[in-house]
Amino acid sequence: MQIIHTVSEMQAFARSVRASGQTLGCVPTMGALHAGHASLVREAAAHHEHVVTSVFVNPTQFGPNEDFSRYPRTLDSDIDVVRAHGGTVVFAPPVDEMYPSGTTTMIHVGGVTAPYEGALRPGHFDGVATIVCKLLQAILPDEAYFGQKDYQQTLVIKQLVHDLLLPVRVTVCPTVREADGLAMSSRNIYLSAEDRQRASTIYRALRTGQALAHTGETRRVAYEQLMRDDISTLHDVTIDYLEAARAADLSTPDAFEHGEEIVLLAAVRMGTTRLIDNLLACVGGETA
Ligand code: AMP
Repeated sequence: MQIIHTVSEMQAFARSVRASGQTLGCVPTMGALHAGHASLVREAAAHHEHVVTSVFVNPTQFGPNEDFSRYPRTLDSDIDVVRAHGGTVVFAPPVDEMYPSGTTTMIHVGGVTAPYEGALRPGHFDGVATIVCKLLQAILPDEAYFGQKDYQQTLVIKQLVHDLLLPVRVTVCPTVREADGLAMSSRNIYLSAEDRQRASTIYRALRTGQALAHTGETRRVAYEQLMRDDISTLHDVTIDYLEAARAADLSTPDAFEHGEEIVLLAAVRMGTTRLIDNLLACVGGETA
């Protein structure tokens, strides 16, 4: 396995892969890799001779009061995870490789960035869209893999790739969970023992929303009321949002259509840790 730190070396590698008739998958990450990231690497390795996993804690997607400086940085063990799951390259550039002129040029995706994470974390999706675009230019993959865990982010990236005519396939992989249902996240290590235990309530609340969809409930407000029931009993927990929206574009009609695909979205703060999660459901039917 190779470790690459510069964009020019990364692009040269990608060109050599293509010249030899092979294909390249990529998995963009911020490191502190866990089984969720590993599942993306495995999926990419199942479809491509080469898999580049990028490890880059992207400063521009963190707000001024967010956890950029304390975000876990564990490159040595990340390299071991990538190797163990069939990755062939770790691309770990320093900040000035990815931002040679600072933030002079940034990308703004409209539409789907407006609600939820976009509303609560101003500038976050500009940072995400910009770094994903840069990573795609550096890695030059045939296919890029992302987790459903960050559902709104997957919509932003699909929009980015569509609108900037980027020649890459975007594939979204299922959320990997702990045994009690908590979505794996590099931020779970911040949770106190008590909060770690309570954190699975988020998943249970989303499951009640999913079950409600399967009963055919169309009124959007009914989802919020039901899902909040579980979590609002917990002390010292702040719900940023816990709602149902249209899966296609996150729009929020008063009533969904029967047969419509919806997404149940959660962002909850426990102590100093902010957790997000989601589940898809079909109103009046089983989710595909
Ligand atoms: P991050 O390092 O948190 O930026 O995540 C890198 C990629 O891994 C993103 O596409 C995430 O959606 C994905 N990811 C993070 N957690 C999980 C998980 N529990 N299951 C599947 N994919 C995940």
